[in-house]
Amino acid sequence: MAQSRRAVVIGGGIGGLTAAVALHRGGWDVTVLERAPSLEPVGAAISLAPNSLRALDVIGLGEEIRDLAAWQGDGGLRTPSGRWLSRTDADAVAERFGGPLVLLHRATLMTSLAARLPAEAVRTGAAATVSDPGDTDRPARVSTPDGDLEADLVVAADGIQSAVRRALFPDHPGTVYSGFTTWRVVIPVPGARFASHETWGRGRIWGSHPLKDGRVYAYAAARTPAGERAPDDEKAELLRRYGDWHDPIPAILAAGRPEDILRHDVHHIAEPLPAYHRGRVALVGDAAHAMPPTLGQGGNQAIEDAVVLAHHADDLAAYTAARLPRTTDIARQAVRIGHLNMMTGRAGVAVRNTLLATLSKAAPLLFLRSFEGIADWRPPQQPYASRQTPAGNR
Ligand SMILES: Cc1cc2nc3c(=O)[nH]c(=O)nc-3n(C[C@H](O)[C@H](O)[C@H](O)COP(=O)(O)OP(=O)(O)OC[C@H]3O[C@@H](n4cnc5c(N)ncnc54)[C@H](O)[C@@H]3O)c2cc1C
Repeated sequence: MAQSRRAVVIGGGIGGLTAAVALHRGGWDVTVLERAPSLEPVGAAISLAPNSLRALDVIGLGEEIRDLAAWQGDGGLRTPSGRWLSRTDADAVAERFGGPLVLLHRATLMTSLAARLPAEAVRTGAAATVSDPGDTDRPARVSTPDGDLEADLVVAADGIQSAVRRALFPDHPGTVYSGFTTWRVVIPVPGARFASHETWGRGRIWGSHPLKDGRVYAYAAARTPAGERAPDDEKAELLRRYGDWHDPIPAILAAGRPEDILRHDVHHIAEPLPAYHRGRVALVGDAAHAMPPTLGQGGNQAIEDAVVLAHHADDLAAYTAARLPRTTDIARQAVRIGHLNMMTGRAGVAVRNTLLATLSKAAPLLFLRSFEGIADWRPPQQPYASRQTPAGNR
């Protein structure tokens, strides 16, 4: 019997686990090496768009995740006083892109992915590095605390501060600060009933989304110098910045405990890498193309990368060709949206809001346009292979 080929995945986040499942389904012998002591995602939610849900269909997980989904796309954009600038509805999103936008806890996604791997495939507490990327005539080598592993394919899914990226592309400048910080929290908010919304102020935004299990996912972002932290605690900081914004924001803030609030400065890769592979190593997710979260596509693109990589596992140049232009476009768009929703000038913000409100009345589906070419993407595998659209595969 032919021996199965060996893939080593460095990083057990969304990108790494999806790649591991996709390769395992393709007959690869897969080992995931995760530096952390357990597969613990950050305690926040994640939105998945129809593009990544189709990618999850390829690994048999799409329907399960759609069923678990809490939020199906109803909501809109508001001002800090509560005025709606635009509304979107789930049916319009589903009709336009052939499926819903969904929101679920990250732990739910990670647990579902890990459950599709053999238990022995995941090693935690295993920080790894690539000691040799390998070539057509020799395997790659990965160093782990328990010794070296040889691999026919290495998936570098080690996140935004990827050591593998630095090792493979030492001349690349790495990440830059995106100019803003973020807070996230998932909390029970007794009696909370409201439509999902994102609220844009001056240099500050807030988003609140009810989850299916009764909790609320809330996030905020604000222009700050890199590294700044609250002098007291992050709940107090949020109250100072958003405490007088519209309902339900004050009630959500009241329900949050300082220790539940996550704060992260946002960085992204401004200069695209020359390739997403070297030798037998392929980069996926934030390691390849970290982007600001303004389009909610970082994780979605990591999932797309993973299934496309499984498709092109024998031809990594084809993987780069399929993924680099698309993810570069999306990352640039995410940076542009960050400029728009983090505007600070009073006059500019007034013009922005008037334009948004007017356009939304004149063309209610206009806001979905920013997802065109993103949410309509289709994976190269079955059941989508024969239904490619040029717009969906830019
Ligand atoms: C505020 C915020 C909100 C966001 N919201 C969304 C959203 O709604 N939708 C969306 O699609 N995206 C969103 N994103 C982006 C998304 O979180 C990331 O793009 C996604 O998590 C990237 O997944 P990854 O697997 O590439 O990296 P990560 O999730 O960072 O995983 C990398 C893993 O590698 C491990 N690791 C690192 N180094 C090593 C090593 N040497 N050896 C072994 N393991 C190692 C780490 O411990 C980690 O587990 C958001 C990001 C932020 C900051």
